[in-house]
Amino acid sequence: MTFLRSQRPRIGLRRLRKNPQRRRTYIVLGIETSCDDTSVCLYDRYSASEPPKLISSLTSSLDNKEFKGIVPTRALNHHQLHLAPLVSELLRPPNAPQLTPDLICVTRGPGMRGSLSVGVEFAKGLSLAWGTPMVGVHHMLAHLLTPRLLTNGSAPRFPFLSLLVSGGHTMLVLSAGLLDHRILANTVDIAMGDAIDKSARELGLNGNMNGPELEKLVRRYEKSVAAGENKALSKEEMAEVGIKVRLPMRPKPGRPQTAAFSFSSFVSMVKRGVAQKGGLSALSETEVQIIAKQIQDAIFDHAVDRITYTLSTLPREIAAGIQDFVCSGGVGSNLLLREKLMDAFRNRAMNLHFPPPDLCTDNGRMIAWTGIEMWETEGLHSSYDIMPTAEWSLENILGDVDGWLREDRTTEPDVRPADIAA
Ligand code: AMP
Ligand code: ZN
Repeated sequence: MTFLRSQRPRIGLRRLRKNPQRRRTYIVLGIETSCDDTSVCLYDRYSASEPPKLISSLTSSLDNKEFKGIVPTRALNHHQLHLAPLVSELLRPPNAPQLTPDLICVTRGPGMRGSLSVGVEFAKGLSLAWGTPMVGVHHMLAHLLTPRLLTNGSAPRFPFLSLLVSGGHTMLVLSAGLLDHRILANTVDIAMGDAIDKSARELGLNGNMNGPELEKLVRRYEKSVAAGENKALSKEEMAEVGIKVRLPMRPKPGRPQTAAFSFSSFVSMVKRGVAQKGGLSALSETEVQIIAKQIQDAIFDHAVDRITYTLSTLPREIAAGIQDFVCSGGVGSNLLLREKLMDAFRNRAMNLHFPPPDLCTDNGRMIAWTGIEMWETEGLHSSYDIMPTAEWSLENILGDVDGWLREDRTTEPDVRPADIAA
């Protein structure tokens, strides 16, 4: 781990030390550009004992409908086009004083290198121009800390578990502290969100984000069953009308169990099943809905099955200390997944945390909060020579990348009084 003290942004820290009231009030800019959403926000850290107050947040999402997924160069162009205008709009609200942030928090990785570089280089420029400290934030750490944003860090308390389910990641994480994380289970192939998007595409869905579309399709089917328009079917009957579905990694005699997830076979099941039925055009609307339900159910059942197994392998004394479970990342907004997790934990004393959907998908707010936690509790910020980092281990946040600066914690993390209050 390298701490480069010589490269501190000076003015912001001078302000910080001079603050006579030692008040923890400052304005925070959050920037997220790790994938295809350009998302920025401004927070007023007006109190140390209350959650920060959101001044404004803006997001521009790339439309990927025609491209069967995210094309890295299109995402890069999207950030280059939108980041500066969004930040300009954020800092110059109509009929309000212009704001200059006191702390800049930007996603440094993991993610698409080109996309990340737009945010990181922009943040460096602002940090230099304003003399404001900058924190390079780990994107997955931000997903798992998201519920703490709403409680000013009071819940969930460490140690807690997180299921991080997004378009690029699926992992079960045990977090013992802000910088102490252990990945208990990871996907051995594609991410849950990726499997959902690809399966949905096989069923003819072609939205910008297929997960919510698939969820709607399933809801429509369930409503039609509840209204008596369609007959309620057992799992076996569904397999007759729809496709054959099998959960991967189920225990078998002679095969050791694995603390891991696997989602690629679900896409193959849909592809094969639809082809066996004569292709998508040969299926009725109800048949498509039934397959959608089968696959969504199976993907979530597999996740719950592997979480249950993984937790059963934890030493008793560690398991006993965990009272909170977070489900975050884009897929975490799916209501069926939430229901299945609630069912799975029904008999355990566990507080479940489901951040609101707009905080589950990629957003600048979780990046701002993570930067606040790193700055306030560890005095951490980043030097100007940090690089965007496509691969960055959640288990070694400080050691895996360099460019960390650490403030002397004898000074309060104040930067300056919030001029927003005026
Ligand atoms: P993220 O990578 O965290 O931005 O999340 C994006 C992924 O979450 C995509 O794969 C989406 O299809 C998926 N997603 C978002 N909302 C839902 C939902 N309600 N149900 C299932 N998947 C979803
Ligand atoms: Zn994400």
